[in-house]
Amino acid sequence: MSDARKLPTMAYGEFSRRIHTHATDTNHVTNAQLELTYRCNLHCRHCYTDPYNNKDWIAQELSLSEITRLIDDMAELGILWLNLTGGEVFQHPRFWDIYEHAYRRGFLLQLYTNGTLFTEAVVARLQAQPPFTIDISCHSVDESSFDWFTQVPGSFRAFRRGLELLRTADLPFTLKTKGMNWNRQELPAIKDFVESFGQPFSLTTALSPRLDGDLSSLSHRLTPSDVAMLQLELMGGAPSDEECRMATELLQRPLDRLYRCGCGTNTIHINARGELGTCTMQYECRYSLRTYSLHNAIERLFTDIASLRYHQDVPCGTCELQSFCDKKPTEARWECGNPESPVPYNCDVALARAELATQQTLLHPLGVSRD
Ligand code: SF4
Ligand code: SF4
Repeated sequence: MSDARKLPTMAYGEFSRRIHTHATDTNHVTNAQLELTYRCNLHCRHCYTDPYNNKDWIAQELSLSEITRLIDDMAELGILWLNLTGGEVFQHPRFWDIYEHAYRRGFLLQLYTNGTLFTEAVVARLQAQPPFTIDISCHSVDESSFDWFTQVPGSFRAFRRGLELLRTADLPFTLKTKGMNWNRQELPAIKDFVESFGQPFSLTTALSPRLDGDLSSLSHRLTPSDVAMLQLELMGGAPSDEECRMATELLQRPLDRLYRCGCGTNTIHINARGELGTCTMQYECRYSLRTYSLHNAIERLFTDIASLRYHQDVPCGTCELQSFCDKKPTEARWECGNPESPVPYNCDVALARAELATQQTLLHPLGVSRD
């Protein structure tokens, strides 16, 4: 009889929760997002990397040997979840070398893709070395709207073909939707479409300026009341008394830190030029991994992020709505000229969300009158 002992097992959710809790407590990095390229076959109207999808910026991207060295460094540091993103990852000319290298190093791999470049050959390679998950953007299920938004005729048909290939290949994938003013009326149809693949409908509403500071992407924002209404629909109706009580507890005077989110705890972002940050839209502190080792750059970056404070007498410094607010300092700098500045749109959204969640009438953080 074999004396081999079985490895203990646990549900994935519990495994992930335990690792992330421990990592946050100990400032240990477990998650990395690696932007492989600015290349993309589409030109979505809200895309923050699209202005860099040209030969001048692509020439600055990390080489294959720089990327594989970084992947090795991440493995040495104990990073477990690795998100490969772009641009469009399948447009990187050495994508499979990168993917297979990361796969062999044992990461739980998450691919972000627009879903238009799947072929039988691509799907077969992924089946042989499956990723942990594939996340695909789904902002429209109407052919003319989809192609208008991506600015590439035929992109919707390619997207549908890709999804059908994935459906039959039994690869793990999820669909994610960005609610915008042009697809607002379409959201129920998108939800039905997503659910027809057995997926939960996943909706976000925040839009970012483009990486070159161009604000045109923000013209697609939903109105603040639409954001709040969508939240209500997703919650399945008005909050219970207990939910209102819990939401009211979130109305607190904040810490004076500039970054009050989880930035600088367990996650890193590396852009296509090898600059280390804490997330895609954090450009207040970056360290080039062409100059610093990954370990050294993380230490410097996390120390810097933790030390950034509100120094000016601005509403965000004392705002009780910050738990309901999407403001990111770099976006505030691009949109309003100052990372400490409030972003009026974010204030309107935060107020609408907070009033909905608490079922109370609250003061506007900028003192805006309702009359
Ligand atoms: S598919 Fe993604 S990377 Fe490509 S243009 Fe659209 S948002 Fe940008
Ligand atoms: S709601 Fe406005 S004032 Fe408050 S944190 Fe957000 S941007 Fe700043």
